[in-house]
Amino acid sequence: MAYEDQYQQSLLLKYDTLLFDVDDTLYPLSTGFSKECAKNIEEYMVQKLGIPENKASQLNQELYKSYGTSMAGLKAIGYDFDNDEYHSFVHGRLPYEKLKPDHVLRSLLLSLPVRKVIFSNADKAHVAKTLSKLGLEDCFERIICFETLNPSGKTSTSFDDKNELQLGSEMLEISDHSCQSDIGSILPKTPIVCKPFENAFEQAFKLANINPQRTIFFDDSIRNIQTGKQMGLRTVLVGKSNRISGADYVLDSIHNMKEALPELWEANSKKSETTKYIASVSIETSVTA
Ligand SMILES: [Mg+2]
Repeated sequence: MAYEDQYQQSLLLKYDTLLFDVDDTLYPLSTGFSKECAKNIEEYMVQKLGIPENKASQLNQELYKSYGTSMAGLKAIGYDFDNDEYHSFVHGRLPYEKLKPDHVLRSLLLSLPVRKVIFSNADKAHVAKTLSKLGLEDCFERIICFETLNPSGKTSTSFDDKNELQLGSEMLEISDHSCQSDIGSILPKTPIVCKPFENAFEQAFKLANINPQRTIFFDDSIRNIQTGKQMGLRTVLVGKSNRISGADYVLDSIHNMKEALPELWEANSKKSETTKYIASVSIETSVTA
């Protein structure tokens, strides 16, 4: 009996935190926000940084792929600009009216007595506005976002290093190297702390007192999910339908989280449900409905 109680207790405590990305995770890709965002970034690159219009799109894609965010990539290759101005240009002009209150997701989140934390590369204003539009502003205990990971005054690019200077002066040549699989290794480091880099996860764990072994991480980015897995998190790739290495679960929509992870609700409900939970806990599920 003592063993049963002990085992039951360990199951109840298996996960104590849910960690969520925001964009294209808490709302679907079909809102078109990603496209709008890319358009705004490219306009910023052309209008504010003087990058030729015919190079902006490709460079933006390459930087996003290599650095996790376009901003991190632009800073890494030598552009210096004000973070707040960039964010207000890129996010401040998004059509937020397209985001509607998501009662289904809200009910799902509130029905789960497990701590929920936001972990986003986006700036505070964008995260707050997005959560508010989705009607989820009171569903999370803590928000880790750009400003949390990059406290003001610490992201200004310094070009004391000769290699960085050289690469900075040849920044547009990056496009010519994009087909190389080792592009990441020839690019300079970014001063920005963001997913998918390990230091962003380490900071988030420290700031929010997260034990990765007891945390489930939801994100739409394959690279973020893969780093998350390496960092010890249980991972859920959202908005996709194909299994990938590094993802413990794959969901078409965040709305399917209860179908894929019923144990979360069961473990937090009546103890009589525990047996059912034991039977399902080790099954890795791909929900594509
Ligand atoms: Mg995302």
